[in-house]
Amino acid sequence: MNLTQKWDVIIIGAGAAGLMCAATVGYQGLAVLVIDHAPKAAAKIRISGGGKCNFTNLDVTAKNFICQNPHFVKSALSRYPSSAFIEMVERHGLHYEQRELGKLFCKQGASDLIQILRAECTWAQVTFSLKTEVNKVQAVAGGFQVDTSVGALSCSKLVIATGALSFPKLKASGFGYAIAEQFGLKVLPTRPGLVPLNFEGKWHERIAELSGLSLDVAVSVGGKCFHEAMLFTHQGLSGPSILQASNYWREGEPIQINLLPNSNVLDDLKQLRKQASSLNRWLGQFWPKRFMQFWLTLYPAPEDIANASDETLEAYARQLTEWSLYPSETAGYDKAEVTLGGVDTDEVSSKTLEAKKQHGLYFIGEVLDVTGQLGGYNFQWAWASGVACGTAIASSG
Ligand SMILES: Cc1cc2nc3c(=O)[nH]c(=O)nc-3n(C[C@H](O)[C@H](O)[C@H](O)COP(=O)(O)OP(=O)(O)OC[C@H]3O[C@@H](n4cnc5c(N)ncnc54)[C@H](O)[C@@H]3O)c2cc1C
Repeated sequence: MNLTQKWDVIIIGAGAAGLMCAATVGYQGLAVLVIDHAPKAAAKIRISGGGKCNFTNLDVTAKNFICQNPHFVKSALSRYPSSAFIEMVERHGLHYEQRELGKLFCKQGASDLIQILRAECTWAQVTFSLKTEVNKVQAVAGGFQVDTSVGALSCSKLVIATGALSFPKLKASGFGYAIAEQFGLKVLPTRPGLVPLNFEGKWHERIAELSGLSLDVAVSVGGKCFHEAMLFTHQGLSGPSILQASNYWREGEPIQINLLPNSNVLDDLKQLRKQASSLNRWLGQFWPKRFMQFWLTLYPAPEDIANASDETLEAYARQLTEWSLYPSETAGYDKAEVTLGGVDTDEVSSKTLEAKKQHGLYFIGEVLDVTGQLGGYNFQWAWASGVACGTAIASSG
């Protein structure tokens, strides 16, 4: 394949954002080349959502995102809402299902969605160069020169869609940050997000003993509260509530766990006192036996509940609803679904995603300082930013 023509657009990164942008631009009749160093496009889509890809959410607002500028995502998301993506996948006949909290998943497998994106790119006449390393990018008269392992390529517009640092085994890289810095754009410090939390010492041992157990809890951290499942693992805590909380947790801080989020615990304890009923039996209706034993060993129930004081019941209720644990660290980028931080959104237009300091250079998807909560929001950002950028390029002439 001869790639040495001058391309209207080169997109580096054949992930969710890059593919969406490529199809959008290609449909407008522009010559688009997508480069990726991985052997296959869309690797993260394939493994996402446990292989079923939680590809969007029915209820997407700016509040579902973490970004230094909380307004930044509004423009792209409002012009390409989740309903637009749903309409597109329905047109292709995708079988999907709605799960809790408005999450939409592929019914059969994420590869169905990849096929749809591939079809869109084929119809839009997008050219791909996979297994292609990018060695150098430079601005030249009328655009950019991209030196790659398949030769020197040139384009009028260059889109960086290389994602972030999470899951390096899927060829994630900090390439986008390096390009941003090369062109004088600020990159905000990065951290693993949507990631399990690890523990050290005696808490590591205690939690590991419960490995495999899952509880319905509400986890609070940094003024946010997430009521979803929590999973005990050999290293620490995981499950949706913990992954969500990890986006807001900082080293040295505790997380607070409400172990009975569906009960009015103090009222229930007072009722038990009145009836002189067994607190253990009451707890047993909420928890598996293994957790009951663990909990009562660490935090024995008040003796003689029938005569317990208000203070005693209040203290025990707090223990059950504000269980404070101090994680030692996150499980790191190897286990993180996303990366917090990235290219400062002040450096790019929220409408076009073009860098303010470099005409013709665009940043889309996760490489930016935009992180969604768990629930399909990260893919919705990838689709919406890809479309916003593609539309802007196509209309820029
Ligand atoms: C295990 C896991 C599960 C997830 N599940 C969900 C989910 O269910 N729902 C959800 O909304 N989000 C989920 N996410 C997050 C979601 O996958 C990402 O937010 C999304 O893929 C970001 O899209 P992107 O296009 O910006 O980057 P990516 O999809 O990461 O694509 C970036 C592309 O750039 C390429 N690239 C990187 N560096 C270079 C380089 N130097 N040269 C050339 N190419 C390069 C990569 O090979 C890759 O193909 C999950 C993530 C993980 C890791």
